[in-house]
Amino acid sequence: MRFALRLNLLLALLALGLALTLSAVAVSVTDRAVEDRARDRLRREIDFLAEQIEPRLGEAGPLAELVRRASRLLGARVTVIATDGRVLDDSDVPRSEVAGMENHAGRPEVVAARAAGYGTAIRHSATLETDLLYLARALGPGRSHAPVLRMAIRLGDLRQVESQYEWILRGAVFAACALLVLVGGVAVARLARPIRDVTDAALAVARGDLSREAPERGPAEILELSSALSRMKSSLLESVARVEREHRLSEAVFETLPDGVTVIDAQYRVIDANRSFRAMTGTPDPAGRPLVEILRDRALFGPFEEAIARRAPTDAVVRRENEVTWQLAVRPLPPGSRAVAVGILRDVTAFERNEAMRRRFVADVSHELRTPVSSIAAAAETLTETEPDDPEAPRLVELVRRQARRMRELIDDLTDLSLIESGEVALSPEKVDLRALAGETAEELRATARSRDVSIRIESSEGVAVEGDRRRLGQILRNLLDNAVKFSPAGGTVRIRIDRVGRKPSLVVEDDGPGIPLAEQDRIFQRFYQVDRSRSKVRPGTGLGLAIVKHLAQLHGAEVTVASRPGQGSAFRVTFGRDAAEKEA
Ligand code: ADP
Repeated sequence: MRFALRLNLLLALLALGLALTLSAVAVSVTDRAVEDRARDRLRREIDFLAEQIEPRLGEAGPLAELVRRASRLLGARVTVIATDGRVLDDSDVPRSEVAGMENHAGRPEVVAARAAGYGTAIRHSATLETDLLYLARALGPGRSHAPVLRMAIRLGDLRQVESQYEWILRGAVFAACALLVLVGGVAVARLARPIRDVTDAALAVARGDLSREAPERGPAEILELSSALSRMKSSLLESVARVEREHRLSEAVFETLPDGVTVIDAQYRVIDANRSFRAMTGTPDPAGRPLVEILRDRALFGPFEEAIARRAPTDAVVRRENEVTWQLAVRPLPPGSRAVAVGILRDVTAFERNEAMRRRFVADVSHELRTPVSSIAAAAETLTETEPDDPEAPRLVELVRRQARRMRELIDDLTDLSLIESGEVALSPEKVDLRALAGETAEELRATARSRDVSIRIESSEGVAVEGDRRRLGQILRNLLDNAVKFSPAGGTVRIRIDRVGRKPSLVVEDDGPGIPLAEQDRIFQRFYQVDRSRSKVRPGTGLGLAIVKHLAQLHGAEVTVASRPGQGSAFRVTFGRDAAEKEA
């Protein structure tokens, strides 16, 4: 039941109780007052009448006349009782019947009058069928044996008058109480409205309407409640904002993780998955879908089943098509939520490839070293058994020297490459004129070229310069030129062309050698890669030269490309980022 209604009902009950009590008290008080007044009047009348009657006690005639006249005038019953209790006369009884009246000595008012001078009683008169108020008075001095004068009035008559006043009184009391209820009702309504308002505001907030303000009017207690509600609301808003912020943060972290992450429920359905997972599995909207449909691979789905069944972390490495390798880690989640496990997919293709490359590299190095080492060992063995003047001896010594040089070259190239790759090479940049550099490098290789009957020609525009490390740029050019001379046929020509492509300085080393098949052109820049190993028997190399060229070019912000067709020669082009003059500008 509503608070206001309860208060109003309580107030009404109180008012009713009050009205009833008050009117009962009022009625009894008026009753008493009326009776007291009546008694008082009777007493004065009886005293007056006693004076008249006393001298006529012995004379029956005049006594009767006086009794009846007094009764008429005073509107009361008048009875005179003799010493022995016999009724001498009674105004309400015909004279002839007086003698036959009952003895009145025992009437309580008579007994009391004889004892104390006056006696009073209220009694129902069967004769008159009404309540009568009796007042008796002893006549004469000898009180206990004196005759008694008694007067009686009908209480009914009195009460009739009195009841009119009583109704007015009751009316007044009830009106006052009704007014009380009315005023109380208004007060309750005024008190209840702010409570109602605060309650409405609280209910609105509970429903999620956080814009609803708590009322700012009403008694102090309500204002306090209001401000408590406001504080509660703002701390709620703060908490909601904080939770939202945290949620957004974890959402952002989840979304941007480079690994594919998915959370699944006990039915193996996807609850959530991040961008990487969606991209890796090629599923734009995986939420709610069965995981098995998304992964479509027993090797990927199995670890999920295993992790959930065993409630233990499960890891797997899964090889996919196109040499792609995924690492999968499934972790069961603690019970208490819909999510039972999280799966993390990582693309480890690059890592695996690096690992494979490392393994291949070690194998390649061992392989490359094995040939010269075996040759040296065999030559040394033969030498020990050969006489010093044996004509074979100098050839063997030369073989040992050649193989040792080859090993040193290989080791130098390897050391250089690993230095360059690890980024530990410090460049000392300066302005390098490419034409001058080409001239110097060509000069270094001129003797070798001549021994192979290969000529080197330089075609260069004026003043093409780059900002770079002179020694390293020389190394690039030397490697390219060395290859070109090495692969040129006898009588061939190697051209070094220096010009600009757009505004970018460019250096081309061109030969008319055997060329490189298109399919191999990418791979020749890899370590140890040689197009045709049988060729290197004639022109031994390490297979590291172009790898060094590529890395050195990268360090200079330059790009190396090859244009070649089998049987039609090759052209290696180094294109620099910008001219040294531009850099200066
Ligand atoms: P190498 O020490 O074997 O020359 P490089 O890394 O310099 O190692 O070259 C890798 C391979 O690329 C060579 O083995 C060769 O097969 C091919 N190659 C390089 N330059 C030329 C060229 N000018 N003409 C033909 N093939 C070339």
